[in-house]
Amino acid sequence: MSGTERKTKQQSQTILDSDKNRQNPEKRILWEKPSTTRGFVFQYPPFPTLPETSHKDIFSPEKAGIYVHIPFCSSHCSYCYYAVSCNPSPEKVAEYLSALNTEIALQTSNPIVQNHTITTAYIGGGTPTILTPEQILALSEKIRNSFSADSLKEFTIETTPTDLTEDKLQAIAESAINRMSIGVQSFSDKVNTLNDREHKREDVLQVIKSVRSAGMDNINLDIICGLIGETEQSWEQTVNDLIEVSPEHVTIYFLSLRPQTKAYKRTQTDLTLPSEEKRIEMYKHAHTKLLSCGYIQTTANCFIKRPEFEHIHQSHAWNSMPLIGLGNSAYSFVNGSVMQNVRSIPKYKKLLSKGDSPIEIGRRLSAKDQMIRYVILRLKQLRIDNGDFRKRFGFEIDEIFTPQIKSLQKAGLVNIKDNSINLTFDGTIYVDDVCRMFYGNDVRSQLSLSKQKENVATLKNSLV
Ligand code: SF4
Repeated sequence: MSGTERKTKQQSQTILDSDKNRQNPEKRILWEKPSTTRGFVFQYPPFPTLPETSHKDIFSPEKAGIYVHIPFCSSHCSYCYYAVSCNPSPEKVAEYLSALNTEIALQTSNPIVQNHTITTAYIGGGTPTILTPEQILALSEKIRNSFSADSLKEFTIETTPTDLTEDKLQAIAESAINRMSIGVQSFSDKVNTLNDREHKREDVLQVIKSVRSAGMDNINLDIICGLIGETEQSWEQTVNDLIEVSPEHVTIYFLSLRPQTKAYKRTQTDLTLPSEEKRIEMYKHAHTKLLSCGYIQTTANCFIKRPEFEHIHQSHAWNSMPLIGLGNSAYSFVNGSVMQNVRSIPKYKKLLSKGDSPIEIGRRLSAKDQMIRYVILRLKQLRIDNGDFRKRFGFEIDEIFTPQIKSLQKAGLVNIKDNSINLTFDGTIYVDDVCRMFYGNDVRSQLSLSKQKENVATLKNSLV
């Protein structure tokens, strides 16, 4: 061996043996001195590296959740920006359910969807309990019978404190539905009235009592922090009442007002929202109270009484499990793609009457999109396990997202310990902004374009 050959071999060995270099893909140039004798590479990973498996392991159906959207409500909350229609005629509801059945038939005839077994289902809206008892029973049966739902663990329906009559509750009890999510938002009558919410505190107490008497032992209450007219006193009353009624699951959202809503317009003239400082104080108050009463925080917004009350449907969806969305504006994550159905109810019905798919927008996620989606949905659950990221994507998370992680650490919104990235308490409050820090450049520029269009539309509306 010549002196030069010996040197090259030594350099290659150094590269080969260094653990540090193995973790750094850019420095991993060659294993050894190049040679033409090592054989033909035709796929990856090489067979000797594959673990043992079986036909069942590889081809067993993927677990998935189902979301069904019912876009009707009995009245319109002033802050609502969802794709809903209020006080619909019975014919309108029947036509929508018929379109929904067509979509279910379309989806279940798709071999990709067929290869999923349903573990959770969620009927949301809108207010699904605006349906008649017969329609609620028929819909829940349709979901169970159309999809492969033998391993259905959790089945949720949303309701409001004023829409749940005894006969509807009876229908729910007879179906496979085992979780109820009630849109309470506030226990203060004054705050509810200011936000065009129909119900009173007494209605909430009554509906919880009825749901409990029907044997339902997994209840979520949705609460909104920062509603119009909310004061420290009204918030304290809401938190005290919340703890008193002791739901298994609590979700606290911050009010986010979009310019097209009635509430937004009213806050430009006569009504006021609590300041940013007050909203944060309110969230802190609820957070402290819930934890001191034994609740466990599972996401930035969710608290559970005991581990068995974790919201499985949300947790699966946020841990990258497929989600099949049905109904107008429903979104899905299937086959590595994110997509959303058309928002308009008439368009939704029209497409399905022609046998066409109602999917309107969507994209197949690139490898980078998948990493960003993973990071965001883990942050919503308070923590990213760096080892899990490495296992899934083959990279160190801090190599891919160096600037974001450094700035979040510097701002005190995340900390790094035990090989994981954790939201701090402040990070929990600003979780959605923390997530937005990870958006890709393509998404950022598209968002700023659509923001400009939205501003022009708002300006035009204000001039009319
Ligand atoms: S109940 Fe929910 S979906 Fe219906 S109007 Fe109010 S906020 Fe919108």
